[in-house]
Amino acid sequence: MFIDVSNLKKSYPSGVVITEVLKGIGMKLEKREIGVILGPSGSGKSTLMNIIGGIDRCDSGRVIVDGIEVNDLNDDRLIDYRREHVGFVFQFYNLVPDLTVGENIEVVSNISKSPLNTDEVLTAVEMRDKKYRFPRELSGGEQQRVSIARAIVKNPKLLLCDEPTGALDYDTSRSILRLLQQVNQKYGTTILMITHNAAIAAMANRVFKLRSGEIVEETVNQTIVPAE
Ligand code: ADP
Ligand code: ADP
Repeated sequence: MFIDVSNLKKSYPSGVVITEVLKGIGMKLEKREIGVILGPSGSGKSTLMNIIGGIDRCDSGRVIVDGIEVNDLNDDRLIDYRREHVGFVFQFYNLVPDLTVGENIEVVSNISKSPLNTDEVLTAVEMRDKKYRFPRELSGGEQQRVSIARAIVKNPKLLLCDEPTGALDYDTSRSILRLLQQVNQKYGTTILMITHNAAIAAMANRVFKLRSGEIVEETVNQTIVPAE
């Protein structure tokens, strides 16, 4: 099992009361699978994903990713885990505006031991010809391609995408999805994605429906074979 989450709980203080945002989550994802988290706004999707990615910490429960007990890591180890094993893609790309496309990727590739390089990942996302452009010169879809290139250049085992198509139109969303599927196939990257888009859920191996901090439904799509 690549991702193995059990009895995960997380609360945040809100004023004088403490709100339980995750109420004992259990979920599993096999290596090379694509998993999708669906659910209404505020149901805890980002919190769950951030804990799996080592951006946030849980209060109790276990999070195991590729054999690593993420919940047991001290702060330094947690940073190492995040740097070495996890790529992040966000809704609003989070590219550095003052750096070119190529430089945005080199910021990551320069501190990584990965065999992948900037030109290779830019070619993979079909953005090699925009290497010397700045993010503001690109369309939204193009910026998301660059942010995917930046996330995969360290060849992470796990790619976490928080509404990667949330700011894109229908056709651009489809091309970003195809790209994520190609990354999954080509590099064997396990992908966990938050989305509101039913078409995305249809291409996932597993879909987890979250409501008020609980998984209320899990669907396994038998027709989709995980990448070799
Ligand atoms: P979703 O991604 O499903 O929209 P989130 O995980 O972002 O949900 O948030 C779930 C709940 O936790 C929300 O009520 C949100 O306000 C609360 N929350 C998230 N992060 C924090 C935080 N850092 N401090 C306090 N409350 C938070
Ligand atoms: P998309 O179909 O992906 O939404 P757009 O219609 O936004 O693309 O952009 C089409 C082309 O114009 C893209 O190749 C992009 O690089 C270029 N472009 C868009 N905005 C700018 C800009 N402000 N400066 C320079 N080039 C731009």
